[in-house]
Parts: sequence; C-alpha cells; structure tokens
Amino acid sequence: MAALLLSGMNYNVKLIDGDTIESSNSERQPLSGTNYCGKPKVKALEDVFGILGRSGDNVFVNTYLDSFNINDLLGDVDFIMDATDSFRSRELINEYAVKSGKPWIYSSSHGSQGEIKLIIPDKTSCLNCLTGGRKLVPMACHSDSVDPEIPSLISLYTSRFITDYLERNIWDEDLYLISALSRDVSKIMVKKDTHCRVCGFRDFKLLESHSITGRQLY
Ligand SMILES: [Zn+2]
Repeated sequence: MAALLLSGMNYNVKLIDGDTIESSNSERQPLSGTNYCGKPKVKALEDVFGILGRSGDNVFVNTYLDSFNINDLLGDVDFIMDATDSFRSRELINEYAVKSGKPWIYSSSHGSQGEIKLIIPDKTSCLNCLTGGRKLVPMACHSDSVDPEIPSLISLYTSRFITDYLERNIWDEDLYLISALSRDVSKIMVKKDTHCRVCGFRDFKLLESHSITGRQLY
C-alpha cells in the first residue's frame, strides 16, 4: 500500500518479496485478490501497478532479502522501507542501512497497534539502539494476529514519514505507536546508544557472516 502511494507521488519503487499469496492475506492486503493465491506477491503487485498505469520505472523482485543479495538489491536505492514480518530481516536491513549510510523506516503491526520509527544513520538512533539486540514481541509477530485495517493505516503514516523526510527534511528519533483501538498516536524518544553494537561499534555481524539466507521466520 505504501509503495502504491509513493509511486503515485512519482517515486520509483523497488519491491522485494519472495512470498506467495495465501488466502489469509486478502483481508489485510486488499490489493492481493484471492485469484492470486499461490502466486508470487510481487507478481500480484506488478499487475496492480500496471492496471493503475504505474509500472514505468518500478521494479519487482521475487526473492527474499538476505545477507548475500542485500548489497546488490539495495545498492541503487535512496531510501529503504521495511514491510517485512521478520525481526531477523529487520536486523539485517538495519546493519546494511547503518553501514551504507542509507535512511530507512521500520514499521510493524500487532493486534490493533502499529509501530513506526525513522532511522537515519549518523543522525538518529538505530533499530538496535531500540531493541538492544533483543527480539521484541510486536516486531516479531507474523500477521495472524493483526487487525485487517492496521497494515493500511501504518502504510499511510509510513509514506508520509518518508515524504516528510525526503522533501521537507522533517525527521525525529521517536518510536511512534499508533493504535486503531484507542485512535491514539503516542511516541517514545529513542536516544542513540553510544554502546550500540551496530551504530556505536559498527559491528555488522549479520551482514559479514552471511548468516541470513532465504525466508526468515522471526
Ligand atoms: Zn544503534
């Protein structure tokens, strides 16, 4: 959803996903009609982009991001948007982003709540500053327990955070907590941890060990 919004604002997007469409996806991802069941998600999205006339310079890659292909896949992008349901993949993206100096945005959904944090290397705290390397429950959950409207709601906020940063240089270090249940948006300041393994000591063990391959389940 966020990619579709951004492409409508004339951003070129590269979508990377090795998943296939499951019947349970359709209520949370209304663009993925059930007639696509069993087919690659990126194929369904490419068709939707084409129908809407937005297939110009957008790229659709049917694979999982891992520590072998991340340099090739993300080397030509200016901004990374996280839409994965894997905590491990986010840790990998965080290491790559900090090492390469590329801004990225973390987002996750759980129940009726979503979380968003903008991460700009050398300016803000990173994902590892937030987690301390611990796997946090909302970040690790798969979408079975996510309210249907939450992914779309988080997509709206995410696309706005991205354009605010890229076009108006608006950014902060906060973790945003967005609740559909209470309709509240609250935020927690996440300060840069000088002892952070990733942005402090620049230890990129996941990237350099090539320990992440294929689909990450947590
Ligand atoms: Zn950090």
